[in-house]
Amino acid sequence: MSLRLFNTLTRSIQPFTPLDPAARSVGMYCCGPTVHDYAHIGNFRTFVFADLVRRYLQFSGYNVHHVMNITDVEDKILRRARESNLALREFTGRYEAAFLQDFDTLLCRRPHALPRATDHISEMIAIIGRLVERSIAYRAADGSVFFNIERYRACGCQYGRLVHLNSEALRPGERVASDEYEKESAADFALWKARVPEDGDVFWESPWGEGRPGWHIECSAMSMKLLGESFDLHLGGEDLVFPHHEDEIAQSEGATGRPFVRHWMHGAHLLVEGKKMSKSLGNYFTLRDLLEKGYTGREIRHLLLTAHYRESFNFTLDGLAGSRAALARIDECLAKLTEVAAEADAPPDAKVVAPFKAALDEDLNLSAGWAVIFDWVRECNRAMAAGQLGAECAAAALSAWRQMDDVLGLGLKAAQSAPKEMLSLLDRRNLARKAKDFALADALRDELRSGGWAIEDTAKGARLKRL
Ligand code: AMP
Ligand code: ZN
Repeated sequence: MSLRLFNTLTRSIQPFTPLDPAARSVGMYCCGPTVHDYAHIGNFRTFVFADLVRRYLQFSGYNVHHVMNITDVEDKILRRARESNLALREFTGRYEAAFLQDFDTLLCRRPHALPRATDHISEMIAIIGRLVERSIAYRAADGSVFFNIERYRACGCQYGRLVHLNSEALRPGERVASDEYEKESAADFALWKARVPEDGDVFWESPWGEGRPGWHIECSAMSMKLLGESFDLHLGGEDLVFPHHEDEIAQSEGATGRPFVRHWMHGAHLLVEGKKMSKSLGNYFTLRDLLEKGYTGREIRHLLLTAHYRESFNFTLDGLAGSRAALARIDECLAKLTEVAAEADAPPDAKVVAPFKAALDEDLNLSAGWAVIFDWVRECNRAMAAGQLGAECAAAALSAWRQMDDVLGLGLKAAQSAPKEMLSLLDRRNLARKAKDFALADALRDELRSGGWAIEDTAKGARLKRL
């Protein structure tokens, strides 16, 4: 079987075929963070989803070139930078660094390119220039430049490819200057925003006067520069479908006359009590909030990967505790397999990798993938408990996990070594048992427990396990 993915453009699941199938290369662009604050874990659901797509394409033998932009100039950023009295780059630099740190904590593979919008202003001006030349864009009296939807349609192009728009929704001749607006107010949108006093010293020269770019043009410029005028795959959260991605298509195709992106994928939202997790509703957790509560990046990543990417789901701390328990179950099984496998080595057990791959080939159905993994864990545990799993089989199971984990990115739990004082308590307990002083041995065991460590008696002797 080969990979099939839902394409927002056709609203159907279809075989994934890149522009150059023979080269097995894929150009992939994911809209990156707007760096005006710490990202919340709703934002990270989308980035972990993009990481899953990238990992699965690589697992399927594609050579992926992954680009994610950093939006470092935009309406909200300017407002917040002004409030903080910092220069734009100094303000955005802080949140960009924090974002990348969080991205690593969540075990996401770093994109091959991380272009910043402010480093690509000349590319944006060039696209706007092409649109003006083709009369698909016009300069307004204040020096701003707007995209002309009516002219675009007169060229035979369709505005409203990703979302259905009825003609009443389009208000040709009217304008929206804001970067974000509703479907109902679809109208000519800003490509270039003329300098206003509130922008302070954030402005660039352009053929239309001083100003700054609109948000949508940023992604058209950076994606086409790094991946070509037509490329394979464009991703983002579902709230970006309109107007951001619709406008990206219009600007890019309006300027080049060529199809922009073959395949669009959108991740569903992370919710809190049925509502989108968002800064404006105040119902969010940053990654840092959860790390402070003692959760690990690995556990949070697991939670963000539990549901199918096109299904929204509610974030709860109970759900996160469920992820901790699920990972602990996997970790325990892997630790036992490692012991049974000892020095043995074997190729991956296809009986588990094949159904896992079949699940993911069908629009990345990871929920079905987890079912495969948990059946397998149960089966391994049963066989090991019955003493029926040989070293070779255990090694094959471990190789299978490594292969599947190439996609999941959860890694093996780092072995936790107990602190020295706990190890010396264990030594004293072993001596007490040897001396048949069971009362002392029990007291030492209790002391270890209150320090957070349990004693596990194994064939190779007693060892400590974190409670
Ligand atoms: P921003 O930094 O606001 O541009 O958002 C970065 C990414 O997070 C975008 O792809 C958004 O679609 C996505 N996003 C925002 N809120 C959520 C949410 N609650 N669940 C999933 N993705 C989200
Ligand atoms: Zn974008």
